[in-house]
Amino acid sequence: MTLSRRELSKMNIAGINSHCHDRGAGLLTLSLGEYRDYDAPAGGRLVVGLHPWDTEGWELQRLREELSVAISDSRVVAIGEVGIDPLRGAEVARQEELLREQLTMAIEAGMPVMFHIVRRYDILMRLHKEMRPVVAWGVHGFRGNEEVARQLVKAGIYISVGMKFNAEAVKLIPGELLLLETDELPEERIAEVVEKVAAERGESPEILAALARDNRARFLANRK
Ligand SMILES: [Zn+2]
Repeated sequence: MTLSRRELSKMNIAGINSHCHDRGAGLLTLSLGEYRDYDAPAGGRLVVGLHPWDTEGWELQRLREELSVAISDSRVVAIGEVGIDPLRGAEVARQEELLREQLTMAIEAGMPVMFHIVRRYDILMRLHKEMRPVVAWGVHGFRGNEEVARQLVKAGIYISVGMKFNAEAVKLIPGELLLLETDELPEERIAEVVEKVAAERGESPEILAALARDNRARFLANRK
């Protein structure tokens, strides 16, 4: 089913977008460096973490100090995006060290974590096995294949899907683990993401929108 532009603009998009860098987003993701200088409007909620691209030159001590400040801010409801990207930032071993620190702090603070993972899902799965986190984990911008999707699902990790995705993989994500996002696109474009993903999964956009909203609330409440 395809919605017209007018129907899309009528869709209630509040509470759906799980990962967005648009300053107008209800749930805004900021890198630690951006957070320091950001004066958030009242009522907005934030996801803050050291992005893998920014890992060059960060010492563990400084990371601990700055992330502690963010964690104690009542607007900050999750840690992210954190993860591994072999194409940018510090070398992978160093990225893993900085990631571990943030994951440990998230567990201590009882906060969910949103990941940015490029290629190295093996590291994510190894950390998951080792840490057995009681907090919720989610992977944002998922474009992996069916095999990777199956591994994440088996581990109970939420999978956030945006405008571009692997159609076969997206079809096998169980309803209760699916999140939707616009990433760098404006918040309101979430209506298009809902429509695209719904068409691929053979679901109604209205039902998928409600599901994604429920899942985001559950993710942020740290339930799996
Ligand atoms: Zn992002």
